[in-house]
Order: sequence, then C-alpha cells, then structure tokens
Amino acid sequence: MTKTVLILGAGFVGITIAHKLLKETLPKVSDLKVILVTPNTHFYWNPAAVRGIIPGEVDDENMFMPIEPAFSKYPSRSFEFVLGKATGINTEGNEVVVSLGRAGDEKRIGYDHLVIATGSAMKAKDMPFKLMGTTEETQNRLHSLQKEVEGAGSILIAGGGPTGVETAAELGEKYSSSGKKITLVVASPRPLDVLSEKSSSIALSTLQKLGVDVITGASVVGHKGRQAELSTGRTIDADLYLPLFGVTPNTEFLPSAMLTPRGDVLQEPTLQAKGFDNVWAAGDAGSVEWKTAAKADPQAAHVTQNLSAVLTGQGKAGVKEYVGGKMVMAATLGKNTGTGEMGGWRLWGWLVKMVKAKTLMVEKMGPKVTSGV
Ligand SMILES: Cc1cc2nc3c(=O)[nH]c(=O)nc-3n(C[C@H](O)[C@H](O)[C@H](O)COP(=O)(O)OP(=O)(O)OC[C@H]3O[C@@H](n4cnc5c(N)ncnc54)[C@H](O)[C@@H]3O)c2cc1C
Repeated sequence: MTKTVLILGAGFVGITIAHKLLKETLPKVSDLKVILVTPNTHFYWNPAAVRGIIPGEVDDENMFMPIEPAFSKYPSRSFEFVLGKATGINTEGNEVVVSLGRAGDEKRIGYDHLVIATGSAMKAKDMPFKLMGTTEETQNRLHSLQKEVEGAGSILIAGGGPTGVETAAELGEKYSSSGKKITLVVASPRPLDVLSEKSSSIALSTLQKLGVDVITGASVVGHKGRQAELSTGRTIDADLYLPLFGVTPNTEFLPSAMLTPRGDVLQEPTLQAKGFDNVWAAGDAGSVEWKTAAKADPQAAHVTQNLSAVLTGQGKAGVKEYVGGKMVMAATLGKNTGTGEMGGWRLWGWLVKMVKAKTLMVEKMGPKVTSGV
C-alpha cells in the first residue's frame, strides 16, 4: 500500500527532503509517494535579495529557478507537485486542506507522514527578501522595489541583523559616492549584536567606510509618507523606507496547540512536532535552532533519516534525536568583504568575500533545486 509523505513548502528544507527521500529512501521503499505542496512555481535564492534589489545587479535567472522540472527524473508514480498553499489541517484524519489559488478551489490531501517546511516571511509583508506568496507576486514586488531604489535620493533601512546590515552595505557601496543618502537604524547598541564586539565593530566601521550613516540604539516607531519617527524622538526624512527586521513563521494554518507563543512549530528533539509520531518540522517554521539556511540543511537531512528509518520498518528505535551545530554567521559587507563567526571563531573579511560576498552563492541554487545538495 502506498506510503505518502506530504511536504508543505519548497524552500531550502522542502526541496532537500523531497530529493533525499526520492534518491535515498525510494530504492528501499518502492511504494513511497512524495507530494510537494507549495505556492511558488520557482525556488527563490533569497540570500541574493540584499543585492538583487539594486537594478541590474542580479538577474532573475540567478535568483529564481523552476521547481517541478527538477523532479521529472523520478518515477511519476512516486512524486507529485501541487501548486497550492496549506490552509488547514486535520491531524486526526491525517489530511491537509490546500488552497489551489482560485477562489474556493481547494483540495484535501491525505498523508502517512507530514513534513512542515513552510518557512518564514518577512515581518514587513511587502519586502521581497523572502517569498511573498507566489513566484509572480515576489518577482513583481522585487522589480517594483528595484525601480524605487533607483529613483530614491535617500533610503532609510531599519534592522541591525544580517538582512538590514547586508542591504545597507550593498546600497552604500553602489550609491553613496553618487550622493544617495543611505541610513541604517539599529535598535541595539551595535549592528549584528549576536556576534562578538570585535566582529560587530568590523561591520560598523565597514558600513561607515561605505558611506552609510549608522544610527544605533534607536528603532523606527512610526512611519508616514517620507518621515520616520525614531524611539529617541528624532525624525528622519527619506524617499524610501526599508523595514528589514525579523521574520515570522508561515504556520497560520496550524492550530495554536502545535505552536510556540511566537508561532514556531513546537518540536521534539527528534524534529517531530510535539505530540505526533507522523508530523515533522524543520527550518524556519520550527523552533529548535537558528533560522538560517545553513541550519535548515542538517535539519532536513535529519528529518529524512528519521523518516527513512520509520518507512523501512525500524520503528521508534530508528528515530534519533537531532544534535544542533554551533552558531555560524557570515554577513557580507558589500561585494569585497564581510564579517562573521563560526563556533566562536571570527571569519576574516577575505574569507567571507570568497565564500559568500562575491556572488552571494547564487551558483549553489542549481544544485540545491536539481538535487537538493
Ligand atoms: C535577506 C535574507 C538573506 C539570508 N541569507 C542567508 C544566508 O546567507 N545564509 C543562511 O544560512 N541563511 C540566510 N537567510 C535565512 C534563510 O533564508 C532561511 O533560513 C531559509 O529560507 C529557511 O528555509 P526554509 O526551507 O525553512 O523556509 P523558506 O525558505 O522560507 O521556504 C518556505 C517554503 O514554504 C512555502 N510556503 C509558505 N507557506 C506555505 C503554506 N501555507 N503551504 C505550503 N507552502 C508554504 C513557501 O512558499 C516556500 O516555498 C537569509 C534570510 C533573508 C531574509
């Protein structure tokens, strides 16, 4: 009898688990069927968005790649791609309600195992630094933002995490010498405050060298028209405002009992959803670790391993606990340098340039989409 693994979301986690199951588990479990449900036709290499919002810097082809053709190499009876969005779940009946986009058009999909890989969206819903629903919606907003960036004489960015810092550096590097005013507002006393003071001070001094005006210890508490009001009472005038602080998990289709107060899926150390043997979660939708693609990969591998153990009849004994790795962060500061840390070790600027800043790793999108590596 068919064993159905239903994967919700085709981001870093969903794509990886789907390929791994089809490559590694299908040869051992011939009646396995993988169903991948996602609202986006194309994978989005969003790490490149920090440069991609500047017109002409990163082509769409280097940020978006079609998903369905990448699975045509597997037997058609073993894989199904469903363009849609999960809107509800019946965990007792093992089925998910999927909206197919057109008004009232929905489908119920049953599963033996469910993988929640629905990731996260930017807190500010109109910022295309993560998928914004469909591929078309994301691309349309990216293109309109590129025009706004080009036309603005001044740009205000809020957010002292990697997205805000990397974006400010890109904009500073490209435009500050031509007179575009770039301002970054950071709520903490220093940018990238999860890093050591030394690594964080490199971010600050490099941003300043790139012509970015960095205001620390302040947050944007109100924004109307061209004016932003800061928590310190100061107001800033800017043609364009980019709120780039934080993400929220895409888990609104799940009952609150399955979620932490901030909306992440509650998980067991095995990466099963708390209280369920046949529901799993990984990546930005989950609650076990840092929300980065670098962490999504080992989590996806772990979920696949556990699923394979269960599907090949090893039962609970085959289900292992996930051991999280050390914190890794490499933040770019324009095309030529960056800062970061790996398990307490500081990453040199030239190293961040080589591994990330030069290309924003767009060359890795092909292997990720076509084979999940
Ligand atoms: C600007 C930026 C730059 C970044 N750069 C880096 C970096 O350099 N290195 C790094 O390690 N991390 C980086 N990250 C973090 C990284 O993007 C995330 O950790 C990663 O995307 C998480 O992968 P995921 O598969 O869990 O979720 P996502 O990539 O968010 O994918 C979720 C998938 O689920 C789909 N989905 C959403 N809702 C539903 C639903 N209801 N039903 C079905 N499908 C749904 C989405 O359409 C999408 O396909 C960056 C983040 C940002 C914002």
